[in-house]
Amino acid sequence: MLVDRGAGGSSRVAAGMVNPITGKNFEPSWRIAEFLPEALEFYAAVEKQIGRQVWYPFPVLRLAGSDKEWRKIVSKLDSPDVVPWIAGEVPAPDGWVGAVEVGGGGRLDTRTFMDGSREFFEELGCYRSGEVSLAEDSRNVIWCEGAAGLMAGRYGPHRCAKGEILTLRAAGWDETRIRIGAGGWLVPQGGGVFKAGSTYEWDELDELPTEKGRARVEEIASRLGGGVFEVIAHEAGVRPILRRSEPLIGPLDGGGWMFNALGSKGSLYAPGMAGRLARWLLDGVEPELEVDFRVFRAQTLRDESR
Ligand SMILES: Cc1cc2nc3c(=O)[nH]c(=O)nc-3n(C[C@H](O)[C@H](O)[C@H](O)COP(=O)(O)OP(=O)(O)OC[C@H]3O[C@@H](n4cnc5c(N)ncnc54)[C@H](O)[C@@H]3O)c2cc1C
Repeated sequence: MLVDRGAGGSSRVAAGMVNPITGKNFEPSWRIAEFLPEALEFYAAVEKQIGRQVWYPFPVLRLAGSDKEWRKIVSKLDSPDVVPWIAGEVPAPDGWVGAVEVGGGGRLDTRTFMDGSREFFEELGCYRSGEVSLAEDSRNVIWCEGAAGLMAGRYGPHRCAKGEILTLRAAGWDETRIRIGAGGWLVPQGGGVFKAGSTYEWDELDELPTEKGRARVEEIASRLGGGVFEVIAHEAGVRPILRRSEPLIGPLDGGGWMFNALGSKGSLYAPGMAGRLARWLLDGVEPELEVDFRVFRAQTLRDESR
C-alpha cells in the first residue's frame, strides 16, 4: 500500500532534470553510468503502463561565464569518465566565454509521473491518501518521506537544502537544450514554457517562496535565456540530503526500512535505488555497502562520538 499525505514534497516542485556532468568541477554525477540506464529503462516501462510520456531527452548546453570556469571545463574534456558524455564544443553564445554540449541528459515530468503512478496504484486498490505514523506497525513500513523524514531527526544529522524554482513563459528562447550556467539552469517544458532554478538555503527549511529567492532565479533566467519573460509560478521545496546527493536504503533499528537522501538528483537515482531495495526485501540480495544506511549510520555515530 502506498500512503501519501500529499502535502508538499520536493518531487512536485522539482525540474526533474538529469545532467550527466555537473557542478563547478564539471564532474560526472556519482555512478551515473550505472544509474542512468536503470532510470531510462524504468521510465520507459512507466510510460507504457500509464500511457503518458514522462521522460524527455535533451542535450545539455554547459556555459562558462569566466575564463577560470572555462579552463576548468576544458581541463576535464579528455578525462576518461567525462569523454563518453561530451557531444562537442559549440560556439559560445554572446556574453559567454565558452560552451560545450553534453549528451545523455533530459527531464522527467515529475508531476505526470507522480499523478500517473498514483492513478495506476489507485486502480489496483494500493493507494491511500493520509499520514503514516510511528505508531503503525513499523516492521512493515518503508519510510520514503523525503526531507520531512530527515528533518524529524530519525536518521542523524542532515544537510537538507531549500530550493526555489520559477516557471516562466518566454518567446523565442532556445527550446532544444537544457542550459546550465551562472550557477543555475533553464529547462524547456515545451510551448514556450521553461523551469529555471535554483537557490540553495540551509537555514530556513520551509516550503515558502521568498522575494530574495525569486530575484536570484530571475537573474539566472535572464542570464541563461535572455530577454523578456513572464513568471507563471514560483515554488519552493526542500531537498532531502544526508551526504551530497547520494541516496541511502536499509533497515532501521526500531523496525521498518528507510529509502531517502535522494538529494538534488531524485530523477536519476530513485529508480535504481528502488530496484536495489526491492531485491533486498524480496530476494535478500544486499546492495553495495556505500548505499546501505546501516553502514552510513554507524560511521556518523563514530564521527559524533569523537
Ligand atoms: C527547487 C528544487 C529543484 C529540484 N530540481 C531537481 C531536478 O531538476 N532534478 C532532480 O533529479 N531532482 C531535483 N530536485 C530534488 C528532488 O526534488 C528530490 O531528489 C526528490 O524529489 C526526492 O524525492 P522523495 O520521494 O525522497 O521526497 P519527496 O518528493 O519530498 O516525497 C516525500 C513524500 O512523502 C510524504 N510524506 C512525508 N512524511 C509522511 C508521512 N508521515 N505520512 C505520509 N506521507 C508522508 C510527503 O508528503 C511527500 O509526498 C529538486 C528539488 C528542489 C527543492
